[in-house]
Amino acid sequence: MSRIVYVNGEYLPEDQARVSVFDRGFLFADGVYEVTSVIDGKLVDFPGHAARLDRSLAELDMPSPLTSGELLAIHRELVARNNVTEGMVYLQITRGAPEDRDFVFPDPAETPQTVVLFTQSKGLVDSPAAQTGLKVISIPDIRWGRRDIKTVQLLYPSMGKMMARRAGADDAWMVEDGFVTEGTSNNAYIVKDGRIVTRQLGNEILHGITRAAVLAFAREAQMQVEERPFTIDEAQAADEAFITSASTFVMPVVSVDGVALGDGKPGPVARRLREIYIEQSRKAAV
Ligand code: PLP
Repeated sequence: MSRIVYVNGEYLPEDQARVSVFDRGFLFADGVYEVTSVIDGKLVDFPGHAARLDRSLAELDMPSPLTSGELLAIHRELVARNNVTEGMVYLQITRGAPEDRDFVFPDPAETPQTVVLFTQSKGLVDSPAAQTGLKVISIPDIRWGRRDIKTVQLLYPSMGKMMARRAGADDAWMVEDGFVTEGTSNNAYIVKDGRIVTRQLGNEILHGITRAAVLAFAREAQMQVEERPFTIDEAQAADEAFITSASTFVMPVVSVDGVALGDGKPGPVARRLREIYIEQSRKAAV
C-alpha cells in the first residue's frame, strides 16, 4: 500500500511527491532531520525532537518554517492517514531550492525551505534484536566537527553500517583520539560494576533525545551514571553495553570488535532500562 507523505503543505501519495533537483538538501546535504518513534499510534518524546530541530535549524541559520504545534499536527495527521501503530515519523527540512546551484545560502525570503515528512511502519517494542543483542565493531570517526547538529550528511554513518555488515556485525562505534564518540546512528554506553558510562555532551556527538530520557530514568532508578569518554579496551572489559536511539529505544550490545561482553547475552541493566523506557514512553506519548 502506498504511503501518504507530506511535502511543503500537501499530503500526497508517495509516488506523486516531488522535490526539485536544485534542492540544497540534494546538492549540498544542506538540511536537518528528526526521527520520532510511534508506539500505540502516539508520538514518543515529541517535545524533545521539536526542540532539537529548532536548535539544529538555528545553528545553521535556517528559519523555522513551522511552529512546534504545526509540526505536531502534521506528525499526527500522517500517523492517522497511514494507520501507523508502531514505527517512525521521518521529518526533513532543507534550505530549499533556489533558481540555480550556488554555494552561497539563498535569501530565505525568496527561497522557502523544503519540508518533507513520511512514516515508516515497523515493530519496535518486540524487536528480535533486543533478545539477542547487537555485535558492534569500531571504526575511526572521520565525520565533521558539528555532530551536535542533526544534519542529513549521513554518508559516513551509512558507510560505517556497511563496514559493520561486511565484518559480520550489526553496527559500528566510532572512535576519535582513542575514545568512543557514538554509534553510527545511536549513542553508546557501557556498564561496569553497575555504573553506566556514556560520553558527555559536546559537539562530538548528537545530543540524543532517547539518551536524555534514558539517563533521567536511570538516575530516578538510583543507577549510577558517569558522563565521560571511554575506550574500546574499556568497552571490551565491561560487564555489558547498549545503544539508544529513537528507533531502537535501548538496545543491548553483546560484543565489541569480536570480544563478547559478560556472558555474551543482553545484560540486566540494558534490559531493565529498555523496559522502563518503553513503559514510560507509552504513558507519556502524545
Ligand atoms: N547519534 C547519532 C549519530 C544519531 O544519528 C542518532 C539518531 O539518529 C542518535 C545518536 C540518537 O539520537 P535520538 O535518541 O535522538 O534518536
